[in-house]
Amino acid sequence: MRPVYLDNNATTRVDPAVVQEMLPYFSEQFGNASSMHAFGASVSGALKTARERLQALLGAEFDHEIVWTGGGTESDNTALLSALETQGGRNEIVTTQVEHPAILNLCEWLQKSRGIKVHHIPVDARGRLDVEAYRRALGPKTAIASIMWANNETGTIFPVETLAELAHEAGALFHTDAVQAVGKLPIDLKNSEIDLLSLSGHKLHAPKGIGALYVRKGVRLRPMIRGGHQERGRRAGTENVPGIVGLGKAAELALAHMEEENTRVRALRDRLEKGLVQRIGNAIVTGDQDSRLPNTTNIAFEFVEGEGILLLLNKAGIACSSGSACTSGSLEPSHVLRAMKVPYTAAHGAIRFSFSRDNVEEDVDQVLEAMPPVIEKLRALSPFWSKNGQTQFAPSYV
Ligand SMILES: *Cc1c(COP(=O)(O)O)cnc(C)c1O
Repeated sequence: MRPVYLDNNATTRVDPAVVQEMLPYFSEQFGNASSMHAFGASVSGALKTARERLQALLGAEFDHEIVWTGGGTESDNTALLSALETQGGRNEIVTTQVEHPAILNLCEWLQKSRGIKVHHIPVDARGRLDVEAYRRALGPKTAIASIMWANNETGTIFPVETLAELAHEAGALFHTDAVQAVGKLPIDLKNSEIDLLSLSGHKLHAPKGIGALYVRKGVRLRPMIRGGHQERGRRAGTENVPGIVGLGKAAELALAHMEEENTRVRALRDRLEKGLVQRIGNAIVTGDQDSRLPNTTNIAFEFVEGEGILLLLNKAGIACSSGSACTSGSLEPSHVLRAMKVPYTAAHGAIRFSFSRDNVEEDVDQVLEAMPPVIEKLRALSPFWSKNGQTQFAPSYV
C-alpha cells in the first residue's frame, strides 16, 4: 500500500535540499561560531545567511530581530516569561481557549505557581475569536497578549495584526504563536505591530529541535536560558549550527513555494474536503471557511470515534490525526473543538488532514476511496447510529 502522509501540522518531512545544506555542518564545517579562527568564521557566516533567509520570510526589518531557539515550545515560553519580567507591575496575560498546549499549560502553571491572572478569550462555532471580549480583557494590568496566528487543529486564522494594535492601545506587549502560519501565509512583520513571534523548524520542512523567536527591535527580552553570550545574550548555549542552517534553507524554500501553498496545495485540500462531505453523510467541516490555512481541513464525522478512524486509515496506509497529536491518547474531545461547542457526538469523530507541498493528487484519490467504507464500518458498530441514518439519541453538547 502506497503511504499517504496527511499529518503535516504535526510535523513535516525535512526537505532533501535542507538535508544537503546541513550536511557539511556535521563534518568539515564543525567549528564553533564563537571561535576566533577560520573554523569559527565560516560557521558564523553560515549563521548570518540563515538569519537573513528567515528575516526575508518574516518580512522583518533587521536580521538581529531573530533569536534561534530549540523549537516552538521554547519560543512560546521565552516570550511569555520575558514579558512578565519586563512589563513591571503588570501581572495578567490575555490569550485564547484554543492555543497550543505550549501556551495553555505554561499559563496554567503561571496561574497556579505565580498568581498570574490569565484571560482565556472564547471563540465562536466557526473558531473565530471574540474580538470584543479580547478588547474588554485588555487593560492596565495586561503584561502581554498571546494569540496564535493560525490554529493547528482547524487551520482557523486570527486577525493578529489588528489584535496587536489593540494590545498596544492597552500598553501591553503582543506575542503570536505563528508555528502553523510561517511558511503557509505571507508575513510582513515590519509593517505590523507584532512584538514577538514564535516559529518552529519541523513544521516547515526543517528538522525538529530548532526554532526561532522574533523579537522586534526595541522590545526588551529577558533570556529564559542563561549562560554564554550567544544570540546577543538572549539565548545562551552553543548554537545548533546544522539546525539553524537547515531552518534558514527551509525558510528560503518556503518563500519560493508560498504561491504553490495557496494554489496547488489549497486545491488538493479543497478536493478532499468536498469529496468527503459528498460521499459521507453527517460530516461537518469545522473551522472558519473564510479564513483558514490553505493546507488544513478538520472534519467531524458524527457517531464514530476518531481513534477508530485513525486505526483503519493507518491500515490503508493513510496517516492523519484526530484533534492534535498532544491531545490524542485521551478520550476527551480536543479542547479546540470543545471551545467551538462542536456537538459531543461529532467532536469525538473529528479528523484533521493537513497537507504540504509533498502531497499529490493520488493522495487525495486514495483517501476518497478508503474513507467511506471505514466510516460505514464504524457507524455499523455505533450505538448512536441506526441503519437508516436516523440518530437514535439526540446529540448531547459539551
Ligand atoms: C507544533 C506547535 C508548537 C510546538 O512547536 P515545537 O517545535 O514542536 O516545540 C507550538 N505551537 C503550535 C501552534 C504548534 O503547531
